[in-house]
Amino acid sequence: MILEEFLQILNILNQNIDTDSPAYKLKYSYKRNPYTILMTTLLSLRTKDENTAKVASKLFNTIQTPQQLLQLSQEELETIVRPTGMYRQKAQTLIDISQTLINKFNSKVPQTKDELLSLKGVGEKTANIVLNNAFSGGTIAVDTHVHRLCNMWNIIDTKDEKQSSKVLNEIIPTQYKENLNFSLVSFGQTVCTIKNTKCDICRIKNIYNLCEKITLI
Ligand code: SF4
Repeated sequence: MILEEFLQILNILNQNIDTDSPAYKLKYSYKRNPYTILMTTLLSLRTKDENTAKVASKLFNTIQTPQQLLQLSQEELETIVRPTGMYRQKAQTLIDISQTLINKFNSKVPQTKDELLSLKGVGEKTANIVLNNAFSGGTIAVDTHVHRLCNMWNIIDTKDEKQSSKVLNEIIPTQYKENLNFSLVSFGQTVCTIKNTKCDICRIKNIYNLCEKITLI
C-alpha cells in the first residue's frame, strides 16, 4: 500500500471510531489534563485498557494534580490501582513521579521528550503517548496494534515497535500523527484484532482491495 492510500484509510478510521472499543472507553473514562494523562499512561503499562479505565475513572475524575494524589496513603493508592497489575510498583511510580513534578517541574508535566524521559519509570513509549495526547506533540505513539496493522498493510517493514515508531514518525505527515494511534488501536481492538479479522463488517475492506494486498501476520 502506498502512503497516500494509507492516509485515506486513516481518515476513514478516524471518522468512524468505535465507541465500544476499550481505547475509546479509556479515553473518556476520566478528566484529562497532562498530569492525569501521564499517570493513566503509567497505569496502562502491561494491562488491558478495560482495567486501566476502571482505575482511571476512580482516581482521575477527582484527582487532578500531583498534590491531590499525594494526599492518598501508599496503601490506599495500592488498593485502588490493584486491577492494573504490578500494583505496588505502579503506586510507587505514581507517588515518586508526582513528587518529582512538584519538586523539579513546578507541579507541571514537562513538554519535552528528554524531560519526560528523565522521570523515573517513564520510557520512550510512555513519553510518546503523553506528548501525543497531552500536548498534540506531533509524535506517533506506537503500540502492538499500530505496529501490527502498519506492517500488515505494508506501509512499513519493521521488526519491533521501536523501529516502527522511528519509521512512522519519519514518513507520516504531522497532521496525521495526533490521531493515528487512537484510530488504529480502536480498529485493532474491535475489527481487525490480533486473533480475529472481522472482514465482513470492516469499513475499509473494499478500499484499494485491501484484503487482496495484505499479508496477515
Ligand atoms: S478487510 Fe479484514 S484483514 Fe483487512 S483490514 Fe479489514 S478486518 Fe483487517
